Parts: sequence; structure tokens; C-alpha cells
Amino acid sequence: MKPDLFEAPDYYNMDDLLSEEHKLVRDAARQWVKRDVSPIIEDFAQKAEFPTQILSGLAEIGAFGPYIPEEYGGAGLDQISYGLIMQEIERGDSGVRSTASVQSSLVMYPIFAYGSEEQKQKYLPKLATGEMMGCFGLTEPDHGSNPSGMVTNFKDMGDHYLLNGAKLWISNSPFADIAVVWAKNEAGRIHGLIVERGMEGFSTPETHNKWSLRASATGELIFDNVKVPKENLLPGKNGLGAPLGCLDSARYGIAWGAIGAAMDCYDTALRYAKERVQFGRPIAATQLQQKKLAEMITEITKAQLLALRLGQLKNEGKATSAQISMAKRNNVEMAINIAREARQVLGGMGITGEYSIMRHMMNLESVITYEGTHDIHLLITGADITGMAAFK
Ligand SMILES: Cc1cc2nc3c(=O)[nH]c(=O)nc-3n(C[C@H](O)[C@H](O)[C@H](O)COP(=O)(O)OP(=O)(O)OC[C@H]3O[C@@H](n4cnc5c(N)ncnc54)[C@H](O)[C@@H]3O)c2cc1C
Repeated sequence: MKPDLFEAPDYYNMDDLLSEEHKLVRDAARQWVKRDVSPIIEDFAQKAEFPTQILSGLAEIGAFGPYIPEEYGGAGLDQISYGLIMQEIERGDSGVRSTASVQSSLVMYPIFAYGSEEQKQKYLPKLATGEMMGCFGLTEPDHGSNPSGMVTNFKDMGDHYLLNGAKLWISNSPFADIAVVWAKNEAGRIHGLIVERGMEGFSTPETHNKWSLRASATGELIFDNVKVPKENLLPGKNGLGAPLGCLDSARYGIAWGAIGAAMDCYDTALRYAKERVQFGRPIAATQLQQKKLAEMITEITKAQLLALRLGQLKNEGKATSAQISMAKRNNVEMAINIAREARQVLGGMGITGEYSIMRHMMNLESVITYEGTHDIHLLITGADITGMAAFK
């Protein structure tokens, strides 16, 4: 792979709107990605392997629990810093960002927001350092966009719960030490349970042959009469709103992360277009390539503004789930369109692993589907503005 020459586009001087802390956090993540992710990521994506050696680095830049209070081992940062960290990591690779998103928003967040004090003390500090890794089990083979139909269930056996069922498409599952699992009790109410690797009847087979997020490990969670201690139930919240609260946080991070992937594709295409000479002049001097590049920077700038405003609303505790859906949907579509256009700017070179664009493009096919599909987010906006849900 070519050396990482990335220069972040900032067409509307967004940096002027960031605090010194935001910039410090962002720049530390940016330098870490350049030093520790870019040189190895193409190789790991080609091998379809998660690079476990980067876990400690992710912890050091605050990517595990950026907004979890310091007393529980988190970085105690605000929502804009969280977004900027996700942006920088996804600039490197969406798979690496997925690992960080799952750990922070889908494992640490539910334990922090819905867990008992004992659960917080037991799990959060280790999750923050990466000593312990987690995954989040909501999706099932027959229930993806409609998780409320889930069949994974647990029965109260007096001194423990008995968990049965299966989850599919679970990021980090093949190596996770714990899983936050959403299952129905005997009354059909959804609850979160912390399931630990090693519990009898619990297995996590890996899903192979992905063309997307190849540097992220994905797998199943299978529960065959797993005895879960009663103290592993998350007591603070139940019902579908509990997992959806976690998804809000992860989707917000994705809205920022996708900007990173788009910035990398744009920056690569701009540099290539200035250097690549055809018909006696750089292709950047041609109107058609300028149209592509000009539209890319316009869309990136709009997405940056959307994410920053959403971050302000999140900091104030005012961001709605529907606002988060709009930003996730818009920014991921923006990124995937830019990846496709940038790939064309590079001609044949665009399909090789010498450049990051094709990897981003394939990764974004998952990002546009997970955490609520592109269509479902549109329907959430539709329901919000009309008061009529078209998908239920
Ligand atoms: C790489 C990867 C990692 C993932 N990681 C996780 C994870 O860590 N944890 C987890 O729980 N899940 C995870 N997922 C699952 C992901 O969230 C689901 O794939 C997603 O929610 C969609 O579910 P589905 O694949 O079953 O598609 P389906 O729900 O079957 O949807 C198929 C198509 O139908 C459309 N559709 C569905 N319902 C409607 C409707 N009412 N109206 C119109 N169109 C509709 C959808 O938009 C989509 O285009 C991951 C997925 C992938 C690919």
C-alpha cells in the first residue's frame, strides 16, 4: 500500500468551531491511525483478519468509552470528541471503527446506562483498556430490521436464568470476552444480559467469506441452555427502547465515521488527479474530474456541518433518534457515493490495494446496512415528519 499522505479537508474552517480539547483528541487519533493503522490495514483486510495488535492503541486514543466518565475508566470526553475519534478511525478503516463503536456504544454504554454499580465496576475499567472486549447481540437470523420479533429467550430457573437462541452478524463476536445479549423473558419483555465467554452452551462461530469489513471479525452467538447468573441481567432498563438507546449512540458515531472514509477517498483522488497526466496534462485540469472533486468536497462539507450540529445537540441532551437517523443515513450515502466516484478518478489503479478507496467502498456497503438500513432510516424520518410509521 502507498504511504499515508492524508491531509484532512476543511473547506469551511470547521476547526474554528472546535475547542482546543477537540483538536488535541482528534489530532492524537489522526497521528495514531497514520502510524499504527495505515501501514498494516490493507494486509489484514486482504487476509480477512482483525489486527488485534491495535487494541491497546485504540484504548490509548480514548476510542473505548470516549464519553464514559473517568471514574469508570472512560475518557470523560464530550460527544464531539467522540465523533471526531470515530471520524479519524474510520479514515483508516470502517472495520476498525466498528470494533471501537461496538465496544463503546453497544457494550460500555448499556453497562454504564442500564447496569448495576457492581456491573459497572466489574466490566467498564477493563473494557476501557481493551483488556476485555465485548460484542452486542441484537440481530437474529430471522429478525434484522425488526428486532422486536426476536426469539432468543431466557427462563427464570430460581437461582439463574436459562438462555436459548441465536444471534447473527455480530461484530467482534469471535474474540469477545463478553456479549451484551438482548433476549425476551417469559412475559415476552426484552432485557439485556451479560454473557461471558466460557459459559457452558455458549459458542461464537465466525462468519467467513465477507467482501466487506474484512478487517473486522464478525460471527454468531449461539446459546444452548446457557446458565446465566442472575446478577448478569442489566437492571436499569428493559423493552426495545433499551437496545435502541445503544444504537442511537453508535449511529451518531457512524455519522462522523463515514466522513472519515469520505475524506480519505477525496484526498486520495485529489492527489492522484493532480499527479496523473493524460493527453499531456494532469487529469485534475479536466472539467469532468473537477466536477467529481468539487462535488465531493461540497458533500463532505455539508456532512461535517450536519455532524457537528448533531454533536452540539447531543452535548445538550437534545438530539432525537430521528435526527440521528437522518445524519447516519445522509453521511453514509455521501461516503459511499464519494468512494465510487473517487475509484473512477483513479482509473484502473482504483481497484487495487495500493490505494484505500476500494476497501472503503466495500466497507461502506456494510455500514449502509448495519445499525439500521438506509431504507429503515428513511422510514424513521418519514414517520417522524408525518406521525405515521410505514414500517411497522
Ligand atoms: C458486517 C456486519 C456487522 C454487523 N454487526 C452487528 C452487531 O454487532 N450486532 C447486531 O446485533 N447486528 C449487527 N449487524 C446486523 C445489522 O444490524 C443487520 O444486518 C441490519 O439491521 C439489517 O438486518 P437484515 O440484514 O436482517 O436485513 P433485513 O431486515 O432482512 O432487510 C432486508 C432489506 O429489506 C428492507 N426492509 C426491511 N423491512 C422493511 C420495511 N418495513 N419496509 C421497507 N423495506 C424494508 C431493508 O431496508 C433491507 O434493504 C451487522 C451486520 C453486518 C453486515
